[in-house]
Amino acid sequence: MKRFYPVLLMMLMCACGSNPQGQTNGAAIESRSVLRTEAAEKESETEDTAEAAEEERAFFAMNTYMRIRAYDADTALMDQAEVRVEELEALFSTTREESEIAILNRDKTAALSGETEELMRLALSLCERTEGALDISVYPVVRSWGFTTGEYRIPERAELDTLLRYVDYRNVKLEKGTALIGADMMVDLGSVGKGYTGDQLAALLKENGVQSALLDLGGNIQTVGRKPDGSLWKIGIKDPKKPDSQVGGVSVEDEAVITSGGYERYFTGEDGEIYWHIIDPATGEPAHSGLLSVTIIGKSGALCDALSTSLFVMGLEGATEQYRTYGDFEAVLVAQNGTVYITEGLRDRFTLAEGLDPDRLQVIEK
Ligand code: AMP
Ligand code: MG
Repeated sequence: MKRFYPVLLMMLMCACGSNPQGQTNGAAIESRSVLRTEAAEKESETEDTAEAAEEERAFFAMNTYMRIRAYDADTALMDQAEVRVEELEALFSTTREESEIAILNRDKTAALSGETEELMRLALSLCERTEGALDISVYPVVRSWGFTTGEYRIPERAELDTLLRYVDYRNVKLEKGTALIGADMMVDLGSVGKGYTGDQLAALLKENGVQSALLDLGGNIQTVGRKPDGSLWKIGIKDPKKPDSQVGGVSVEDEAVITSGGYERYFTGEDGEIYWHIIDPATGEPAHSGLLSVTIIGKSGALCDALSTSLFVMGLEGATEQYRTYGDFEAVLVAQNGTVYITEGLRDRFTLAEGLDPDRLQVIEK
């Protein structure tokens, strides 16, 4: 049965991916950014080349398609992994009525589980570190653009200004086991939740003896160890201008590869403009920083997820500053003008896609 999952997943993706107008009925569905080089390789594998016992699981959760491929795992562990995703979604989804975040948004105070508290604490520290380029309280603005429902609209400037009055992560109070927000505030951990989930799944698999796994949480990739043959995982990175092709690929081991891109969820307004889902909290409008996609590579999926969203907002200069100041991640930035910037640590790990002009590649030094 496991051989059918890739095909099934592809069919589902074709059926549900974003169309050029970005119009969807009901909940907005993400069509994510990272092309899975590994998945492509996998499909060309034949039965007798697979050595380690492989388990694969595909399912829909957190508004996206997820796929877990693990070596030397059993079915019970794969069940546990799927249940873990459901548990985390039930804790911090904004749309599940009884999630801790939904209760917080409704009652302005909520008791938090250890996981939600940990994630929120990390998110808030990144809001601070990025000086509000990441702001988990930008949710009412995201909602007003229709990105939470797929009923897209262009809000009036006055409406955005009113909503922005209450956007300020510094007014999210977090005490042990409890969160508190202002009367007109709402929060959303969507910019960090999948990265955190990847960390949790990787930990679960490792605790249970798995040494090699590839987790694809809607294009947010988390790897465990190396490939079963001992080589590095190669993860493709989409070309944001032509999402069916790649700008290149990065070799990783035990790391997350997480992308934020304007092309992942967007709509075309009646004015012909494209409006995407990553919002600049300073303006309330889709962020235009000159970058079309930001991929972050690092040990912590949650950190990578937070940084992918916020560096997309900050642009090349801010991203470079974050890299030089903190040095706790590597990145691939694709700019509007076609330049592909990679951080120094990827020099030997990034391969530009065949046929692309090598002059397009630039290295951000420490
Ligand atoms: P990601 O796909 O990880 O980049 O997260 C994007 C999602 O986070 C969007 O769909 C919004 O729900 C939310 N979001 C958009 N802009 C921001 C922002 N500046 N800070 C925090 N969350 C945001
Ligand atoms: Mg993110």
